[in-house]
Amino acid sequence: MIIPRNALLMILIVAISVVVAACAGDLEPPADGEVTVITTTYPLTFLSEKIGGDRITINQLAKPGVEAHDFEPAPSDIRAISNSDLFIYNHPAFESWALSAAASAASADGDNSPTVTVQTINLELAGENHGGHAEDHSTFDAHVWLNPLEAQEQADRILSAFIEVDPEGAQIYTRNADGLDVELQALDDLIGKQIARCELDSVVVSHLAFGHMAERYGFSQIGLAGLSPEFESGPAQIAGVIGKMNELGISHIMQEPNVSDRLAETVAAETGAKLLTLHPLEVRTSEQASNGIDYLEIMKSNAGALQAALRCS
Ligand SMILES: [Zn+2]
Repeated sequence: MIIPRNALLMILIVAISVVVAACAGDLEPPADGEVTVITTTYPLTFLSEKIGGDRITINQLAKPGVEAHDFEPAPSDIRAISNSDLFIYNHPAFESWALSAAASAASADGDNSPTVTVQTINLELAGENHGGHAEDHSTFDAHVWLNPLEAQEQADRILSAFIEVDPEGAQIYTRNADGLDVELQALDDLIGKQIARCELDSVVVSHLAFGHMAERYGFSQIGLAGLSPEFESGPAQIAGVIGKMNELGISHIMQEPNVSDRLAETVAAETGAKLLTLHPLEVRTSEQASNGIDYLEIMKSNAGALQAALRCS
């Protein structure tokens, strides 16, 4: 039998359509929570939850209430990373253990879960990273999430990573990320307005976590400790902080949850300053976690505390 050319073409087109339809039928979305994500700290969890919705399951390594800078992974955490689809951390300046943990996890399961460093690229740091020298992370401020606009950049990277590990969810992830973007933009506007006109331009903080926020909203931080709470200032530096408080008329000390109150209380007693809470959001307190108090709400409380401490109108 001779089949006319046009008819043959029709058969081909129909055959292709059937194959496409069969594939589309196979593209069932993953069951809820099928994509497993490991995060190190709370802001990454928050951004991931917002973007991933119920397509993903998240396991945050540093639990509520701990001092996140001190966290080190247990063997069970390495196993969890190895069994996950995606491991998200901030920066080696914060999680110095992350790269080696990811490497151990990859060698344990052999399938190399993608690892995403969700960190705004610091051009200065990138410029220094050449010639095989180890990067010096001791002076790098990894707390970028305290500026909502930099949190947006973290969210962009999380979105790309989710689409990479679960391309079928791209539309949902993108739509969720667009919604998150609007919320972060609104948060930035709100904080900007709240601390626009202030009598003071410096706050005393328990550790120097707020550099990215301070730069965005135009204030300075004076730290009782350094970039990590463990680098507590010595008596000479503390005397310097007290001197600055007197000189600048600072009457509040911004204390943070999850670290010892001792130093802040001592300085408050010495100067008559009041204690307020400014949350670095590395991990939530256990109470905040169980009550579902999220990044946006804690950032709004932070803005209120800054408004009082900086005496903004
Ligand atoms: Zn910190």
